[in-house]
Amino acid sequence: MDDLVSLCKRRGFIFQSGEIYGGLQGMYDYGPLGVELKNNLKNAWWSAMIYDNDNIEGLDASILSNPMVLKYSGHEDTFSDPMVDCKTCKSRFREDQIPKSCNKGKCEFTEPRQFNLMFKTNVGPIDDAASFAYLRPETAQQIFTNFKNVVDSSSKTLPFGIAQIGKAFRNEITPRNFIFRVREFEQMELEFFVKPGTDEDWHKIWVEKRLNWWEKQGIPKDSIELYDVPKDELAHYSKGTIDIMYKFPHGVEELEGIANRTDFDLGSHTKNQDELNISANVMLNNNSNTRLAIQDTESKKWVIPYVIEPSAGVDRGVLAIMNEAFNIEDLGDGKERLVLKLKPHLSPIKAAVIPLKKNNEDIVKKSTDLKRNLQKLNLGRVVLENTGNIGKGYRRHDEIGTPLCITIDFESLEDNTATVRDRDTMDQKRIAINELPEYLIKHING
Ligand code: ATP
Repeated sequence: MDDLVSLCKRRGFIFQSGEIYGGLQGMYDYGPLGVELKNNLKNAWWSAMIYDNDNIEGLDASILSNPMVLKYSGHEDTFSDPMVDCKTCKSRFREDQIPKSCNKGKCEFTEPRQFNLMFKTNVGPIDDAASFAYLRPETAQQIFTNFKNVVDSSSKTLPFGIAQIGKAFRNEITPRNFIFRVREFEQMELEFFVKPGTDEDWHKIWVEKRLNWWEKQGIPKDSIELYDVPKDELAHYSKGTIDIMYKFPHGVEELEGIANRTDFDLGSHTKNQDELNISANVMLNNNSNTRLAIQDTESKKWVIPYVIEPSAGVDRGVLAIMNEAFNIEDLGDGKERLVLKLKPHLSPIKAAVIPLKKNNEDIVKKSTDLKRNLQKLNLGRVVLENTGNIGKGYRRHDEIGTPLCITIDFESLEDNTATVRDRDTMDQKRIAINELPEYLIKHING
């Protein structure tokens, strides 16, 4: 993990937040390359969900939540972890995450007590009980509260989904392992609404789809373990959950959870609960003003759909993808190179155009024109790397995962060709400059 963390800082992927003041625990900032990688990952998810499926719609809901939402979702009562204090070393831990370094022989722990992980704030100028609101601990709840808005505005019939990417906040007792467990993070969540009775089949389908998607992002299936969460560990809303566990540098842990949330959520937030034949055990709701049900096209009866929820962490995704891509290659003669073998569609920089001579006007102009033309393809960022040192340029772009480096030299001025170097094979070939746009498109999009 240390090598990865150091690369992230050195090359501008991820920084500790507020570092110049000593940082803020559990918070990280994405730098110039990190933000590109993260956006590319989110775009890949958005595209696979919304553009590839006509029955999935997008949403971008507010982060600050009406407390009612998190009362009826069950978060106020149950979204807590057991916390213990060590009387000897004065540290505080989640009971199930006491590090091995804390010597149990010497340390003496308090009885565990429940600690609610939700952050509170106040909305408006008065700081009182009536103005308090939560920062959402997951993006899912606003999908449920917007269920009718989306159904009515987009005429959906079952099965269909609503997908959202956004920030979530959890006051984790022990944030750790770089961006793996943080207090502010992003989730990519799909709530897929299905007919009761078809939920178990859909659950299996989504597990398969999600594994395939992660594979396309560079996480091979053999780096993954599926964990069928035992009944006594299931969240209060879940009938069954399969966790996609990845071999992170610090151990095998959850990358994404795929839960069968039954009719718990819509059943919790709907009005007229007693008329809707809800199977989950929900809290009586006298505050909702909307019926969150859908009319069955055949029977014409109002039903509350079941929900299958694939919920993935963006930050854990970035960590897993960086970890898989990180390679130190032996080049022989005691030489090695660090290369980040990211899938090209995720690379922060798609191509670097390198003028052979940094002070030769003609070469620099040709390089600048090429950079502009390739940038217009809208595949992502293309840079002009005018440092005058090709070897250093290649090394830097290997380390940040740029799939192609394109060098413009004197020959380019004569015959309008350029040298294209492939990050993974280090092969170099001459390609006509007017063929480069098509070459780049194929290389990035596969
Ligand atoms: P864990 O057991 O690791 O605390 P969880 O089961 O509470 O995770 P979920 O509530 O299922 O997590 O959230 C869905 C996804 O959101 C997780 O699979 C993970 O990728 C991401 N996630 C959850 N908590 C955090 C966190 N503190 N930091 C970064 N990502 C997180």
